[in-house]
Amino acid sequence: MSLLEVEGLKAGYGPAQALHGVDLALAEGEALALMGRNGMGKTTTLGAIMGLATRMGGAVRLAGRDITRLPPHRIARLGVGLAPEGRRIFPALTVEENLRAAARPGPWSLPRLYALFPRLAERQRNMGGQLSGGEQQMLAIGRALATNPRLLLLDEATEGLAPVIRAEIWAQLAAIKAEGQSIVVVDKDLAALARLAERHVVLETGRVAWRGDGAALRAEAGRVAKLLTV
Ligand code: ATP
Repeated sequence: MSLLEVEGLKAGYGPAQALHGVDLALAEGEALALMGRNGMGKTTTLGAIMGLATRMGGAVRLAGRDITRLPPHRIARLGVGLAPEGRRIFPALTVEENLRAAARPGPWSLPRLYALFPRLAERQRNMGGQLSGGEQQMLAIGRALATNPRLLLLDEATEGLAPVIRAEIWAQLAAIKAEGQSIVVVDKDLAALARLAERHVVLETGRVAWRGDGAALRAEAGRVAKLLTV
């Protein structure tokens, strides 16, 4: 059984429809890369899985359970953790408080998160608002992981960060995946996504324009790159 099944998903904001029937599937322990140019529906797809965008049709199932009509807090409790675009950490709480506010029992304990993100360990008593962009991104990922989700959703995992920090985050995501964590990741770094994920989907105006595994991505890299450039 798939951990995540998205079937014919239609979603948007108020009356404006942004997704027009998206299908996705992910098995436990796998990573799926969601790609596409700006405004093609990546954030909306994550939002619709999480219950944040208005779902207008189709179905979302988590481990066989229909979560299509559940509100975000119920979906979070069932095991979906989101590190949103823009990070949305709590600026007036310390790093440790940010993590503790989200923490739920499971393998991703505070000590393990600090081992994974040494920069957060060093900064545990600093306010979220005092962190660099890269540290904030690590905190957003750490906070989502602290909920011990069955499925981790990462929006713009490395957007706007310096190359050295991006490399660090990709290495951390590889380590997270090696622990068996299932991940859906949105990013624009095709090479890094090819290394991390075994499933790849490109969205275009709210529809799946291309999908394939790692071998297909290598074979059709030119076509995929074209779908990602304006
Ligand atoms: P980006 O990389 O720019 O975030 P994206 O692929 O994640 O792009 P979405 O943010 O999902 O794209 O946007 C899909 C469509 O929905 C776009 O046409 C966008 O203008 C629209 N949209 C996004 N957010 C809202 C909103 N809050 N209200 C109305 N329309 C929105």
